Amino acid sequence: MWKTSDAEELYLLDSWGEDYFQVNRKGYVTVHPKQEKHGIELVDIIESLKAKKLDFPVLLRFPQILQSRLRSINEAFANAINDNQFNGCYQGVFPFKVNQQKDVVTALMDYGKPHKLGLEVGSKSELLTALSFTMSDDALLVCNGFKDESYLRLAMASDEMVNIVIVIDEIGEVNRIIKMAKVMRIKPTLGLRIKLSIRGSGKWAATAGEHAKFGLTTPEIIHTIDTLREAGMLDSLKMLHFHVGSQITDIKRVQDAIKEGARVYSKLRRMKIKLQYLNIGGGLGVDYDGSRTPSDASMNYTLQEYANTVVYNVKDVCEREDVQHPTIVSESGRALVSFHSLLLFDVLGKIPEHYSPKDIEVTGDDSHIVQELYSCWMDIKSKNYLEYYHDAVHYKDELGILFNLGHLSLEQKAKGETLFWDICHKVIRFSRSEEEPPEEIEQLFKHIARKYICNFSLFQSAPDIWGIRQLFPIFPIQRLNEEPQCHAHIADVTCDSMGIISKYVDIKDVKDTLEIHNIKEDEEYVLAMALIGAYQDTLGDVHNLFGAVNEAHIIIGKADDWHIKRTIKGDDVRSVVSYMRYSPDSIIKSIELKLEGLVKDRVLTKKSANRIEDQFKSTLDEYTYLE
Ligand code: PLP
Repeated sequence: MWKTSDAEELYLLDSWGEDYFQVNRKGYVTVHPKQEKHGIELVDIIESLKAKKLDFPVLLRFPQILQSRLRSINEAFANAINDNQFNGCYQGVFPFKVNQQKDVVTALMDYGKPHKLGLEVGSKSELLTALSFTMSDDALLVCNGFKDESYLRLAMASDEMVNIVIVIDEIGEVNRIIKMAKVMRIKPTLGLRIKLSIRGSGKWAATAGEHAKFGLTTPEIIHTIDTLREAGMLDSLKMLHFHVGSQITDIKRVQDAIKEGARVYSKLRRMKIKLQYLNIGGGLGVDYDGSRTPSDASMNYTLQEYANTVVYNVKDVCEREDVQHPTIVSESGRALVSFHSLLLFDVLGKIPEHYSPKDIEVTGDDSHIVQELYSCWMDIKSKNYLEYYHDAVHYKDELGILFNLGHLSLEQKAKGETLFWDICHKVIRFSRSEEEPPEEIEQLFKHIARKYICNFSLFQSAPDIWGIRQLFPIFPIQRLNEEPQCHAHIADVTCDSMGIISKYVDIKDVKDTLEIHNIKEDEEYVLAMALIGAYQDTLGDVHNLFGAVNEAHIIIGKADDWHIKRTIKGDDVRSVVSYMRYSPDSIIKSIELKLEGLVKDRVLTKKSANRIEDQFKSTLDEYTYLE
């Protein structure tokens, strides 16, 4: 008997979901933005959005999940500080590049005030935007990235407004900073980004280490200190910073990096440099597959273990070196915002069509190979299914060879293939009774899984799937009180063969297909993709001119009540063509001219020309996705 808890287990909601997602007794997925018992059925939200004419795909944001994540991270550090009797404190800065959406940053800054949450920026545009937010008095604004004169001028000019720390990310910046500070007669607060020999682990490990893009080597650190001392600016140096890569999957790497970073901090303090902040960068992982392992899509530690590891090792090194405990700053992005958004999209159809051979008649006039496949199809049973499957594969190969040599008609090939694919389906059914089906049958699952065409663009909504083979949890939001019987590949609506998801999260390894239900004709079947709140909003592009998706921000109240705080219409065709620097008006003008010519040449009547023109005009105002 299938239970809803089986669905939670299959889609691993209770492993990666951090209590934000559950399945209720009716088989619907519910969201619990405050990790409390009462939640919101996603299907209810969809109903309300339909009333507001917000179609699929739609991105849901849950600002209260941001608040909850902020609280969890800060509580974890508070516990670690308390347990380790650490004398310093902790404060976070949100790396702007992880999600620059105004609503997201506004929510973070509002909810982050009690936690002294600041921002980290990597360009002058990010800095300018970040400066528009009001932060708590003690919050930091950390300036990373390559800095030209204008970036430095803006950062120094804002020194009076916020606690700006200008981080020296590469050796060439020191002299520019000194020069600008002298011109502007400002004593900026400076940071030093260092290269550690330790790298993170997982997909981003290669971005760190001694050959990393950013950071100073040990000789460069000494040179920078000498240069600052000569300029009389050594007392401006307040922060030591490192970042060993995003999504660190192994706690051992966190430990090693902290030990090395804390050692450099301590040595600099012993050189009488009054560093105040130790900025450990980002890297706190997200357990995308819920496996709690050091695999790329996971992490082998909890948030509390991370905080304990950081605090304990900083304290340990500082005490051994007999220096003051610093304020620990972290730039966690992924761990803070991944959970807050969810993409909902509907299944539009499936390919290829599966034809049943029931209506096929095979006689002595058919090719011998078709007759062999027919016998296989008739006689295959649970006892002989593997042997008959091997035969069928052999006949299928022969079918192809005979066709290519010109010995078979298209109809015969179609008959043979219909029989073959149905044999494969029977094989899968027979294999279900086996505890461990042979590997070749597991491969067959992958081959016969159909592509479910879904109304979204991978390149717009989850570009990391395409770019770095990132895994995100995907699951149906309804019918979870029924066992899903089909194995699917999720394909998007772009006209790009790469717009298909070929790996899915699994507790043991990764899966090649996603289990979904047999979708009835005209049924609205909705899938959700979770944990996409970090990086995807910004990296998403308008491939095939599929634009930004509809958006809704959902707030849950005290009991079961909830409301839509804000909706944002996705791009229409007019906006995406404008991104590419076409003028919608000029497009219409050129179409008008063409239509006029056709009317003049009597190819079209005036009435048909008007109808076509209206069609063009209304398309410009349509949502870019399929209706
Ligand atoms: N800080 C810096 C300097 C980064 O380059 C990054 C991203 O790689 C981050 C913070 C955020 O990392 P994460 O999202 O893994 O926390």
